[in-house]
Amino acid sequence: MQYKVDKNGYYGNFGGAFIPEMLYPNVEELRQNYLAIMEDPSFQQEFKALLSDYVGRPSPLYLAQRLSEHFGARVYLKREDLNHTGAHKINNTIGQILLAQRLGKKRIIAETGAGQHGVATATVCALMGIDCVVYMGEVDIHRQKPNVERMKLLGAKVVPALSGSKTLKDATNEAMRHWINNPVDTHYIIGSVVGPHPYPDMVARFQSVISEEMIWQLEEKEGRKSPDYIVACVGGGSNAAGSYYHYMDDPAVKLVAAEAGGEGIKSGKSAATTFLGKPGVLHGSKTLLMQTQDGQVVEPHSISAGLDYPGIGPLHAHLFDAGRARFISITDAEAMKAGILLCKLEGIIPAIESAHAIAALNKMELADADVLVINLSGRGDKDLETYIKWGGY
Ligand SMILES: *Cc1c(COP(=O)(O)O)cnc(C)c1O
Repeated sequence: MQYKVDKNGYYGNFGGAFIPEMLYPNVEELRQNYLAIMEDPSFQQEFKALLSDYVGRPSPLYLAQRLSEHFGARVYLKREDLNHTGAHKINNTIGQILLAQRLGKKRIIAETGAGQHGVATATVCALMGIDCVVYMGEVDIHRQKPNVERMKLLGAKVVPALSGSKTLKDATNEAMRHWINNPVDTHYIIGSVVGPHPYPDMVARFQSVISEEMIWQLEEKEGRKSPDYIVACVGGGSNAAGSYYHYMDDPAVKLVAAEAGGEGIKSGKSAATTFLGKPGVLHGSKTLLMQTQDGQVVEPHSISAGLDYPGIGPLHAHLFDAGRARFISITDAEAMKAGILLCKLEGIIPAIESAHAIAALNKMELADADVLVINLSGRGDKDLETYIKWGGY
């Protein structure tokens, strides 16, 4: 079974590029150039230097002793929470800004829901002195004030999306519209392994620095290159794709994906795409998404903004379809409990997205000798208000 993208931009039955004709030249320019640019030694050198000196990589692989005792296995945390800007998203935005420069682009656009991807994009635009416009639903602008201010402080322009439900999908539509109207000088930075080919493959490759580091870090600490399990939360799926990447073809490494169950799969307030979704087209690719009988996208719910997405990327739809990854649905309450547990046992306040991955261990049968890596995708500072409202600590 092949898990990486094929030459037509597909992962099994999923993927492709379902885009309006007007967008075709932009996407095609990217498709024709991304691999050659990324594989160029001077690109790799600049990318690696920024990951090291600006982002702070390699991120540590930390053997969490007390968490290990709690779950009865050897539990490592891959510390993406220690990256500059507090999550894995910066790995991708650094890569895409370098790529945009080499394509001669003068302006960056992005869409953002909770603002995390918007902040990571505004950050690299400031770093490179490139104009940055971030589209954000008007409702989200009010919900995510601190991130809006961060983006502005970093010099980005935040444009409200006023149509539809005024949330992420409307911001995406606005960004696409802008890109169609400015095809020559603008690059659109997508923040996860979603969107038309080649975005899912490109983003997965930028994030694959995570599993690349895990290989030598595990060798150093465990005397073996691969773990028994890799556990990651899945919104669109970029931190999961990056932590699975170099292990996807090794069936001895079990892949576990934690989805946001929200208030429960049957509650009507959920984002558990593999349980509730059906094949369809979202954000330019064929994938699994939550939709009504007549194909309208269903508004998702999760307590964590980063997992509040009605689909998953095509790679993950394929990993699910092929049975390569096990998907576990974690409710808001289970995630909050696991997040608080990590605070108490390890002195690490995780992003609530990442807490979903920790909670998944409660639903796995583990043996003492099992080696697990949990990808700790981000830190919890941004979620302090949610922790306070939830209470119970
Ligand atoms: C955005 C985000 C996610 C979800 O995005 P993926 O593309 O699924 O990785 C998960 N964790 C954190 C901390 C995030 O900011």
